[in-house]
Amino acid sequence: METCCSLCQGQSLHKFLDLGRQPLANKYPKPSAFKDEKFFPLEVFFCEECKNVQLGEMVPRSIMFEDYYYLSSVNGGLVRHFEALAEELKAARFVVDVGSNDGVLLRPLKSLGVRAMGVEPSVNVSKLANDEGLETLCAFFDETSARRVLDSHGAADVIVASSVFTHLDAPDDFIRAAEILLAGDGKLVIEVEYILNMINQVQFERFYLDRIFYYSISSMKALFAKHGMVITGVEPVAQHGGSLRFTLMRAAAGTEAPELQDLIETELQVLNTAALTDFGQRCRDLTEKLVAGLKRWRDEGVKVAGYGAPARLSTITNFGGIDSELLPFTVDDSPLKQGRTSPGAHIPVVAASELEAFRPDVLVVFAYEYIDDIRKKTGNLYDYYMPIPLVELKAP
Ligand SMILES: [Zn+2]
Repeated sequence: METCCSLCQGQSLHKFLDLGRQPLANKYPKPSAFKDEKFFPLEVFFCEECKNVQLGEMVPRSIMFEDYYYLSSVNGGLVRHFEALAEELKAARFVVDVGSNDGVLLRPLKSLGVRAMGVEPSVNVSKLANDEGLETLCAFFDETSARRVLDSHGAADVIVASSVFTHLDAPDDFIRAAEILLAGDGKLVIEVEYILNMINQVQFERFYLDRIFYYSISSMKALFAKHGMVITGVEPVAQHGGSLRFTLMRAAAGTEAPELQDLIETELQVLNTAALTDFGQRCRDLTEKLVAGLKRWRDEGVKVAGYGAPARLSTITNFGGIDSELLPFTVDDSPLKQGRTSPGAHIPVVAASELEAFRPDVLVVFAYEYIDDIRKKTGNLYDYYMPIPLVELKAP
């Protein structure tokens, strides 16, 4: 058991959730690769000192991102999100998007005439962006790659890292790299899933091995303060079940957002050991309910299929022991995932055309935050079951 916080080295770490042994959530194996699948314990801890949530075990990052099957641009909601962000950045002189994926932000920036480039570690995904003329350095963002970009393109006045930061095992290294590349008055824009929203919405399936740290406003403030940076802005963004967009600057160039202290006081009502212990129980209850429903449908001959094969499908199916006997397939629009299976539970991932042929009675929606898009795409033909009930979030 972990006893020391990997972020602040504090000694008051409490385990509040044990999701069992889990495979890597972003690998979608074909049957020939099942024997090579590796499993690791997925245990979730809370640090009482810096108020951060983190996993007990860190899987080496290098085995995680060599092949990646998440393409941002197949997700309509994300495309709109990044178009709106590009609009906000259109006055920027040079933007670097870290974890730029297939160029989902670079594309609208390019249309707006903003000079921009991406840094993306995944070989197959960065190639897609470069093939499309969206300049992408295939590398992890670290001091070496930051210097390379600085030497070839000059300082960035904006560095964006959306849904990247929680995946890092050494956030201090990332911040040091950003300090190298960022102009003196530059802004670092970080979008992270907000742990408070995950807790309030009971979205425990968003815990998976790819993401080591689950940040709060308190823990972000503490982490960046070590590097002489302040949070100059924080605002809610919708993607990934309720994220926060932090804007950070060097303390010499910006001042802390005035609303920060009130937000921190609010989050500490939920981010405490007692409340998180209750959360752990609610996660187990929700999973039992889903499994009981799937077994009942199977026994009654109700036809069931899934919609969406996001990484978190892996967490919930492996935790609940949901296999292809309970869920014969799940649909995903990403061609990179189709013809493969979900990690660990090996539920086949297929194209939407299979749905029309199979005509399930019930569609279990795993990418439930896109339920409106999904209803539209599938013609509103089925009973749509949400494994996690949607909860309206208060901002942020
Ligand atoms: Zn800590």
